[in-house]
Parts: sequence; C-alpha cells; structure tokens
Amino acid sequence: MRKFRLLSGSIALFLSIFTGTISAEVNQSIELPDISDSTGTLISPREEKELGDAFFRNIHRQLTINQDLEVQAYIRSIGNKLATHTESQPRSFHFFVVIDKNLNAFAGPGGYIGINSGLILATDSESELASVISHEIAHVTQRHLYRAFEAASQLSLPTAAATLAAILIGTQSPELGQAALLAVQAHSIQQRINFTRSNEQEADRVGMQTLIKADFDPNGMPTFFERLQQNSRYYGQAVPEFLRTHPVTASRISDTRNRAEKHPYRHYPDSFAYRIIRTKLRVLGSKDLDTTGRYFRTLTAQGTPEQRAIANYGLGWVALKQQHFKDAEKIFTKLLKTLPDRPTLHIALAETATESRQYSKALTILKKARHRFPNFTPLSTLHLSTLIKTGQAQQARQEILLRLHTDTQDSTRYHLLAQAYDKLQQPIESYRYLAEYYYQIGRTEKAIEHIKTAKKFTGINFYQHAILDQRLAFFIEEERILKLGR
Ligand SMILES: [Zn+2]
Repeated sequence: MRKFRLLSGSIALFLSIFTGTISAEVNQSIELPDISDSTGTLISPREEKELGDAFFRNIHRQLTINQDLEVQAYIRSIGNKLATHTESQPRSFHFFVVIDKNLNAFAGPGGYIGINSGLILATDSESELASVISHEIAHVTQRHLYRAFEAASQLSLPTAAATLAAILIGTQSPELGQAALLAVQAHSIQQRINFTRSNEQEADRVGMQTLIKADFDPNGMPTFFERLQQNSRYYGQAVPEFLRTHPVTASRISDTRNRAEKHPYRHYPDSFAYRIIRTKLRVLGSKDLDTTGRYFRTLTAQGTPEQRAIANYGLGWVALKQQHFKDAEKIFTKLLKTLPDRPTLHIALAETATESRQYSKALTILKKARHRFPNFTPLSTLHLSTLIKTGQAQQARQEILLRLHTDTQDSTRYHLLAQAYDKLQQPIESYRYLAEYYYQIGRTEKAIEHIKTAKKFTGINFYQHAILDQRLAFFIEEERILKLGR
C-alpha cells in the first residue's frame, strides 16, 4: 500500500474556524509564528480528491450528516454561489450540513466544507451565514489547508483521512488504530502553536471580498463574529479544548467591521430558501415539538406576510413530525394557495402524503411539481423515491443509473438504487449498491457484509462476480489499513 505523502504544515488549520465557544482569556494567549505561502504543488489534485473523499467518509462515520434534501440543496446552492465569486482557479467544493447544535464550520481536504446546523440556526441573516461559508472557502482557495497535510504525511490514505477527521471534530474513531492516535498526539502541541492568526485574517479578508462580489452584506461578517463572542459566554467551559485555538478576537471583529463600513449601507433581503431551511432545521432538530410549535405559533402573528408564512410552514412541519397529518395538510395547502411558486410547499405536501402512506397522492403532487420546477433536485429525488414505493422501480432505476456518476458525494442515489433493485427482485445488484451506500457514509464494515451477502446468491454472472470481488477486496483493504492505523 502506497503511503500518502503530504505537504508540510499544520493540522490545526483543519480545526474549525468559528466557534461560539471562545473564552476571553484564550483571545490573547497564543503567540503565533508566521507561515509563508505554500503553492501546494506537492499534492496532486487527484490525491487531494482521494484524501477529501476519504475524509468525508470519516466525517460521516462520526457525525450525523444532514440527509434532508432541501437543506442539502440549499447549502450547496449558497456555497457554490459564493465559490463562483472567488478569484482563484475553478475547483470543486462539497458543502454539507452537520446536525450538531454547537456553532462550528470547517474546511477539510478536497474542498469539503461542513457547517453545523447549530451555526445556521445561530445566524440572524443569510449574509451572516454566507460570511462563515466564504471564510471557509477562503481557507481552501488560499491553500491554507495544504500546509496542514504534513502531520499526516507518514500515514496511509485511510488513516490520514481518519486522523484529520478525528482531529477536526475532536473525537477519536473507535476503529482508528494506535499508530494514528500516536501521530495525532505527537503533533498536537506543535499544531496548536502553528495555528496562525495571519491565516485567519486572510480568510476574513478574502472571504469578505467573495461576500461582496456574491452580493451579500459585508456587515454580516462582523455582526456574526459579535454574536459568536456573545454566545461564548453561554458555552463557557463546555468547549472542547482544541476548538479554543480558533478565537474570534476583538481585532477580527474590528478589522472586518472597518472593512465592511467602506461599503455603502443598503438592505440585503434574505432568500426565501434561507428562511425555509432554518425553519426546517429547527423542527427536524427539535427535542420538544410542543415547545417548537408554540414558538412558531407566536411568530405567525408577527412580521411581514412572508415571515408569517414561514412561521406557518414551521407549524406545518411540527404537525407533520407529530403525525398530525390532517393538520399538516391543511396548513401546507393553505400556504400553497398564497405561494404557488414555491417548490418547497409542493414537497411539504408530498412528504405529508408519503408519511401518511398515501403514495399515489404523493406521486401525483411530485409529478406535477417536477414538471413545473425541473431543476429543483429535491423534487426529482423525492419523485424517484416515490416511484420506487409505487411499483415503478424500473423507471426510477433507469433515471438514477443515468445520473449516478454526476454527483459522487451523493449517497442518497446509491440507497435509492439499492431500493429499486430490491423491488425489481434483483438482490445481487441491490446488495451491491447498498454496499456502495454504506461505504459512502463511512460504514465500510457494513459494505463488506453486504458484498458478502450478494456473493451468496446463485446465478451470478461473470461480470457481477468480477465487480463484487473487486469491491470486496477494496473494502477489506480499506478496513484493514484503518484498523492497523498506518
Ligand atoms: Zn478560519
């Protein structure tokens, strides 16, 4: 197994960036060495992509990644909008939401950028959220990350990825071997010292340029920093130690405020989608739906017509989650009459029908809506899933296969495909794609199990045999390396 050679630098840059968890004393405590610019030429784009993909699988293994299709579509859309307004070479990014109440965002190898749901909910405007994402994008485009690879340079790819993920999110993967842990420990002090204030300042500066070009409010950045600083008082001591290395300092706030004030003041309205996904995240993450319901009920009596509509949308989702299907349907139907051009309401109605097992009704809604909003992926994915449930797996399978390789990070497609093959009574293919799904979400041991199951069926042709054997060997090797920790 070849070693995955990486460049010099500090892993601590992977550590997240904004945390609402910073205490005042940390703000002035670290003397930071300067790190010169790196061109990052020692790692090929392909190697970085491999590391990034492996990193993402590890993140999947240890954190809950949001699977809601609309939340996914939104974070990709705002992320890509910002990414297209950077001055660097075009490159691919992968934006995702981590279901976690802590305020955090991070950038990993391969352009993988994670935003915690808690951070999204803590923003008070879309420009604040955009400022966090553009800051993370800047860490990637300014190649701050390249220098962070060195600490993992003696490790194999899976272990490098696992180590980076472990450091980033502050937990240790139970599968991660001793060697990797030692590597982490050996470097940890150095990494903390290597954390550079200049990188942070550069990410703020470059991030703000992106923010302005993408037509977001530059004041979103200092305003959010201030909110983080206020928040840190609530979090106090509950902060993982490693996150303390990324302080929101008074100078970051004043620097960004000064820069933002050079731009003339104007009003930047939030997008409808931003409001929708914040509402959805609040309901989906709620541990007490009654309280969440009361929260939205209060809001239905205030604000603009759109704000009241959003509050009602929240109420609809609370009803849906509480399985009060009739109430949910009533709310969404009423909303749809006033806002017929919002695909999210069609989705909400279809989800209500699906949850109450009225699949053909859901199918009718989705078919019509998809025709009307052909480019809204949550609709097409939901439509495919409903086709499978309603005995039209053949059609769904064809469509998924056609688009399978256009979006490599989308584990949902593999899962749907496994379901479609199951309905078509093709268990070998079904288990095969289920294995791919589990591999994508970092559960390699499950992937191995499913490939083994697939191999037990009779009637496997030569081609299937070859693929199953090849994937099995690949998964086993990945798992072995990870356990070995080198
Ligand atoms: Zn940062």
